[in-house]
Formats: sequence, structure tokens, C-alpha cells
Amino acid sequence: MKFELMSLPYEENALVPYISAETVSYHYAKHHAGYVKKLNTLIEGSEFFGKSLEFIIKNSKDGIFNNAAQVFNHDFYWHGLSAESTAPSAKLSSMIERDFGCMEEFKKLFLDKATALFGSGWVWLVLNQDKKLSIEALANADNPLKYEKIALLTCDVWEHAYYIDYRNARADYLQNYWKLINWKFVSDNLAEAEVNTTNA
Ligand code: MN
Repeated sequence: MKFELMSLPYEENALVPYISAETVSYHYAKHHAGYVKKLNTLIEGSEFFGKSLEFIIKNSKDGIFNNAAQVFNHDFYWHGLSAESTAPSAKLSSMIERDFGCMEEFKKLFLDKATALFGSGWVWLVLNQDKKLSIEALANADNPLKYEKIALLTCDVWEHAYYIDYRNARADYLQNYWKLINWKFVSDNLAEAEVNTTNA
């Protein structure tokens, strides 16, 4: 069984003017698709063939890990964006206020970490085992599943995510990324995580 490139949940031009159709096209159809293709090549005939993406991320390393995590990370990134106006659930809002003070402070901390992340990587909002939220800046393909953290939201700060539209101005990309966050997706991830951890 091979992994397939997810379908984008919107048109390539849906995120204009904050992320151009050209960026989405390169990012999705070249970079993201490339990770899927490479992962399929690497797992062929290996112990990871037929395993879930989550299993591969938790149990592999090097090339297989990098490509599996990049597939997961990009799936998560695209689902976390929306041109439609969305709002955090009451539960998510109250947890953000509890753990970061207020939404504005959370935004500042998240974007500051994303701006400061050296080189390529991802910034995540995660739910920890102790049920607290935190912001994790992870390098390259690294992924919160490896650390027993549940992903709620991610931002791609690899240059390919913004260089066509923003050149070197990562901070400008991040300000506009914030306007595109699909808070329903984030809230749904939290609700699902709470159900799963309650049942565990
Ligand atoms: Mn990317």
C-alpha cells in the first residue's frame, strides 16, 4: 500500500492575497508531492511498508523518518489553513488563556518562536501529556508525535513556504499566516485529543 498525496481542501488560489497560488502550487504539487513519492520509494521492501504514517514517524529515523514526517507535517499545515473566517472553540480559548495569558500573548509567543527558529523547521501548538498547551519550535522535519505530544496546529517556516511571496521576510509571511489559521481544525484536534486521552 502506497501513500497518496492528500487532496488540497481548497483551490490553489484560495489563500490569496496572503499566500499566492504560485506558492501553493510549488509547495503542494512539488515539495509535498515529492516527500510522498520519496517516502514510497524508501519504504518499498522495508519493515515500514504497509505501516501507518504515525507508526513510521515514531519508529523510523534518517531518510524514512524525514520523508514520513514531512508528509504528516504538510498534511497538517494545509488542513490548518482556511480562507474562511473561523474562531477557536470555547474550550480552546479557555486553555489558551490559562496557558498563555490571552490570545494576543499566544500569537506573539508563537510568531516570535517561528521568526527565531534558525534554518528550516516547523512551529507547533501541542497538547502535552499533562494536558497543558505549549509551543514547540522543531527543526527540519521533526515532529511532536515523537515526543508523545499531540499536534493541534503547525506553521511551516521552511523557505519554500514563503520565498516566492515574501523573499527573506519570514516575519511578514507569519503575520499573514496568522490570518489564515483554520481555528475549527485546531479546535477539532483538541476535542479529538481530549476524547482520546479520556478513554486511554
Ligand atoms: Mn513545506
